[in-house]
Amino acid sequence: MERAKLLDGSTGAFLLSKVPGLKSTELANLTNPGAVSEIHRAYVASGCNVVSANTFSANALNAAKYGYDLAQLIQTALSLVKEAAADSDALTALDIGATGKVLGDDPDELTPERAYEIYSEIIDAALSVPENVPDWVWIETMSSIEEAFIAFTAVRAKCKLPILVTMSFAESGRTMYGAAPEDFAAKFEATDAAAIGMNCFVTPDKGYAIFERLKASSTKPLVVQPNGSATFAADMRRYLTLGASYVGGCCGTTPEDIAALRKVINDTTS
Ligand SMILES: [Zn+2]
Repeated sequence: MERAKLLDGSTGAFLLSKVPGLKSTELANLTNPGAVSEIHRAYVASGCNVVSANTFSANALNAAKYGYDLAQLIQTALSLVKEAAADSDALTALDIGATGKVLGDDPDELTPERAYEIYSEIIDAALSVPENVPDWVWIETMSSIEEAFIAFTAVRAKCKLPILVTMSFAESGRTMYGAAPEDFAAKFEATDAAAIGMNCFVTPDKGYAIFERLKASSTKPLVVQPNGSATFAADMRRYLTLGASYVGGCCGTTPEDIAALRKVINDTTS
């Protein structure tokens, strides 16, 4: 069995604890770069193979809301994660989250054309300085298959970087917008996405059935990044035996959880 790659865990809770009143996590790149570096370095020290930049909520909608320059923020975030990973073998990822808007024809929400522009701007910003270009792009916490596909298409139009795409399935097996794992897998099967999978929403013990459904409907390597729980690392073992290729944590996970998961990976595939 090939050894699974270890992704990182949550950064939001750590940043909120260091920066009281932080309105949106990406702002910390500009206001508290030391705290962002500290959490990246903790994940590198936990044995992560890939560390993600603090760019989950960095997009034109939040740039307008909070008054920052998107390109400058993304460049700062990438330089922080690159610096933290520099003395290790860890790779870096640009982290792209959902817009939080519902896709549709209603201009008060988000048209597909506007969504494509928003994701294009993010990847343009990430590619604008050669030394800060990330190794991977991770599109995560998606609830709409259509939005995930628009984000993927926008990124792929600009670069050849490996792209991971993960959606958030609840214990019911559906996302917030009702998407099913089989439909997600089918939509991405013909693309060159490096991997697809699930992140956020459930704790590890509640996600096995969803993982099995993804596995049954996709030939791609699979990613699992559930939320934290008291038995997080132990409960992740089953995903490794089921064949997960990329594992990490989402909301509520810490560098300690990820270090424990590193041990589980090494024990499972020695
Ligand atoms: Zn999460």
